[in-house]
Amino acid sequence: MKNYIFDIDGTLTPSRLPINKNFEFFFINWMKEKNVYLVTGSDKEKTIEQIGESIWRSVNTVYQSCGNQVWQHGKLLKQNEFYLNKDMELKLNEFLNNSSWTEKFGNHFEQRVGLVNFSIIGRNCSQKKREEYYSWDMIQKERVQICETIMSKFPNIEAAVGGQISIDIYEKGCNKAQVLDDIIGEIYFFGDKMEKGGNDYPIAERLQKDKRTHTLFKVKNPTETWNILKELH
Ligand SMILES: [Mg+2]
Repeated sequence: MKNYIFDIDGTLTPSRLPINKNFEFFFINWMKEKNVYLVTGSDKEKTIEQIGESIWRSVNTVYQSCGNQVWQHGKLLKQNEFYLNKDMELKLNEFLNNSSWTEKFGNHFEQRVGLVNFSIIGRNCSQKKREEYYSWDMIQKERVQICETIMSKFPNIEAAVGGQISIDIYEKGCNKAQVLDDIIGEIYFFGDKMEKGGNDYPIAERLQKDKRTHTLFKVKNPTETWNILKELH
């Protein structure tokens, strides 16, 4: 039986926003009798807010915090721990103070299970500012550079760009590709950040090694995912 893995932000929903209601209805029907897995950098509360409790409970498994917390039909299966050490905190504060993006809105560090989510603009920013930062970062590549610096300075740490405004930081190897250890057989993977440095990259990279078995769908937005699913039965 085929396995379908979906990223959430930018793939099933707009980043940090709820799923389109019609798409939600479609998806609930589409996923019946299928092996569906969700993998996101986000936590359980945000995910349920975005995709609704019905999808969250009915899929085979939900991997929160890039696979560092695993839920199955509302039951917690396992979780990893990760906290920043002093040196890392200092380095991240340096990025925060020296960024050429000067508008800061608070909530720059968010402790999640097994990872820390770090944002220069701060997660308290408005939707409008979020879009502005995202467009700016597309050109400046600030988040990619921060990730590269962190990984070269702290060899046991991995950092990846996720969503629109933040990066996820966790122990080396504790990335989204962890989910592949649990899933056997053919995989269809949908994600919006499969390029190097993106948080879907570790999964894409591993699946690409066996291109004849697996299929990658690099989507630009949820509408594209929806259109693809209409053709997949
Ligand atoms: Mg995404």
